[in-house]
Amino acid sequence: MTVPETILVASHNAGKIAEITELFTPLGVKVTSAAELGLPEPAEEGDTFEANAATKALVAARASGLPALSDDSGLVVDALDGAPGVYTADWATLEDGSRDFQVAMQKVEDALQARGATDPAKRTGRFVSVLCLAQPDGDVSFYRGEAEGTLVWPPRGTLGFGYDPVFQPEGHKRTFGEMPSEEKHGWKPGDAEALSHRARAFKKFAEECLGLTRA
Ligand code: IMP
Repeated sequence: MTVPETILVASHNAGKIAEITELFTPLGVKVTSAAELGLPEPAEEGDTFEANAATKALVAARASGLPALSDDSGLVVDALDGAPGVYTADWATLEDGSRDFQVAMQKVEDALQARGATDPAKRTGRFVSVLCLAQPDGDVSFYRGEAEGTLVWPPRGTLGFGYDPVFQPEGHKRTFGEMPSEEKHGWKPGDAEALSHRARAFKKFAEECLGLTRA
């Protein structure tokens, strides 16, 4: 794929769209989103990040006739046998269908306490992001990124979105919620490493799919 002028991001999640837009900006690529185009938001019924990412990207690519890039992501907590995992967004969903991430972070904390996971060494986990590029003809490719870290309590920071305030990435003293987005990404074109799960997946996409080579 040559570097496009504009790319369709198959998402209705404002936090993800903002981060993916920032990652594309230095490449000179503009972003439009499924939310902006009023495209349908499919149900996520798969039991892997890849399955859900493919569903979202294919629905947007078929509805628009354009290549579409989706992100399916979540928080995988070791002491919770990998939960909330692909159900990370569901843990935030209230009875009226709205989402509350304070409630979701509290649920993760309650589950950790119930398992006696009070020591930081027992509170390890990772954020996972799977980006899927789908073509209108049904062709799909996947790019996966993971960021290891520790679940902290109480939540710290007001930046980012979702579960950022309770996730302290390995080797750092601050949570993602305390990091400006450039620091959370930890990557710009040409860099050898990235920090966040999404930036790690995006780096693979940029290098493998857009032919972006390292400086
Ligand atoms: P889904 O990909 O739509 O299933 O939703 C993934 C959920 O994981 C989102 O609702 C977020 O709350 C959470 N999540 C994914 N990536 C991040 C991140 O970078 N920071 C905080 N929460 C995230």
